[in-house]
Amino acid sequence: MSGDDTWLYGASASAGSAILTSSAARRHCARVFIPGGGLVLHTEMSVDARGKLVVYVGPMFAGKTTALFRDAAAAPRACIVRPARDTRGPRVAPPPGAEVRVCDSLAAFAADAPPGAVFVDEGFLFDDLVAGADALVARGVDVTVATIQYDFLRRWFENVRELAARPAARVVVVAGTCATPGCGAPSVYTRRTAPAAGRVAIGDFYAPACARCWRAPPE
Ligand SMILES: [Zn+2]
Repeated sequence: MSGDDTWLYGASASAGSAILTSSAARRHCARVFIPGGGLVLHTEMSVDARGKLVVYVGPMFAGKTTALFRDAAAAPRACIVRPARDTRGPRVAPPPGAEVRVCDSLAAFAADAPPGAVFVDEGFLFDDLVAGADALVARGVDVTVATIQYDFLRRWFENVRELAARPAARVVVVAGTCATPGCGAPSVYTRRTAPAAGRVAIGDFYAPACARCWRAPPE
């Protein structure tokens, strides 16, 4: 292990989670998980007039949207932004009082965003995720994004990779529980459990999987 790979464990942020500091955090998101909770990767924080950028990443069914909505509930003026491509809608109820917008383009939303913090769900489904988040942060808006980072073949979504690599981004890795019967290890990946067309198929085709249980989808 090189010096760049050294993990520094800090105090637990809450029961069942841990904080990990690493200059290489973003490159190693896949390695980072612990049972029963999220793991926080503290990266360099910018201290200026720009908004904060927090990115929750993890497989499906890990609690990312729950974490996002929890943060939104604590914000005085929250606007939740959801991609129109996700036709299922959230499985978790948005916090009362939060405005919810459904749109195709995050950049278009950013150009006409209401005042207050912005909470983006299913961020990977926005093709212009980075441009939209950059525009908001540059205007001093705090932005929190929840998104899977890997597709069902364990490949990064490039827009998420680019966002997580932003110097000021605080990347929080959320792990769920592997769905394989009898396993229960922390889930890192999303497994496709039935044949479906395309890289992104909206529907019940997925299960969270640990690194050992992950398999390529059935033909
Ligand atoms: Zn497993």
